[in-house]
Amino acid sequence: MAGTPLRVGFIGLGLMGLPMSLNVLRAGFPLTVWNRTASKARAALDSGAQAGRSPADVASRSDVVITMVSDSPDVEEVVLGREGVLEGARPGCTLVDMSTIAPKVTRSLAQRLAERGVELLDAPVSGGTLGAQNGTLSIMVGGKPQVLERCRPVLQAMGQRITYCGPNGMGQVAKLANQIIAAGTLAAVCEGLVFAATAGADLNAVHQAVSGGAASSWQLEHLGRRILNGDFAPGFMVKLMAKDLRLVAEAAEELGVSQLVTPAVRQLFRTAEQLGYGEEGTQAAVKVLESLAKKEARAG
Ligand code: NAP
Repeated sequence: MAGTPLRVGFIGLGLMGLPMSLNVLRAGFPLTVWNRTASKARAALDSGAQAGRSPADVASRSDVVITMVSDSPDVEEVVLGREGVLEGARPGCTLVDMSTIAPKVTRSLAQRLAERGVELLDAPVSGGTLGAQNGTLSIMVGGKPQVLERCRPVLQAMGQRITYCGPNGMGQVAKLANQIIAAGTLAAVCEGLVFAATAGADLNAVHQAVSGGAASSWQLEHLGRRILNGDFAPGFMVKLMAKDLRLVAEAAEELGVSQLVTPAVRQLFRTAEQLGYGEEGTQAAVKVLESLAKKEARAG
């Protein structure tokens, strides 16, 4: 790394944040971390990160602060709340919010931060926990291009494809489009496999044949295989997909754009959450369709 490396702060060391923070450390950036549940910061501290006492403390020790928490109110809490990022950040500091949240909340956060001389990038990601571990995430960035260029070396530690999408909020818009496509594809994978199972098909054969044709997708290849194996561990939790599809519904309402497919897909994930599968991987949505069909889609 040429010159003095940016000092990085990381807030939110969950399924995604922890492996992302470890990649920032591996790339040689001095790192300060904070997580609400302190025990989850252990692995980052053991790998050489410094412990922050609060989001404000992390911000006071960083040039670039990354947040990777769950939903819009959570980002607002760690940024604007008591001992939040805004209390500790100096003018010239940049907040990079990599959580998936509402575009309008991103825009209003950007305004609040700008009043204090702090820049914001919205930089949500796609690629799941595997992409987080391997540093191969696709990162969708909203904000000023020159701020992205300053932070690019940090983002490159976590992602392979870094795409500038436009002003603040446009990274989140790209991510919500991603979720419309990813959730709809997964719902179709679930329905297709339950259909084939009910017909008595050889599900390994169906999976192999369809994966090689026009209906192939990441969802079929990876999540379809997990369904057939009865593996419902998260990756990406059902409750977070239900959250993202709520963000889509709210944003579509604000835009006045008609949606015909995504509302049904949203009900599938909401039902899965209500039936108690919220903390399982998104592939557990198949269980809703399986219970209606009274047939499981497992490979023999
Ligand atoms: P997760 O494992 O549930 O982690 C959530 C993190 O946010 C935890 O560190 C949690 O702290 C923290 N947090 C939540 N609310 C908070 C609050 N009010 N104050 C302080 N900390 C708070 O979720 P994840 O899978 O890492 O997802 C994080 C974000 O990435 C979400 O926006 C999600 O939609 C997005 N995302 C996830 C994936 C994926 O495959 N998992 C892929 C792309 C994008 P505690 O440890 O104290 O609970």
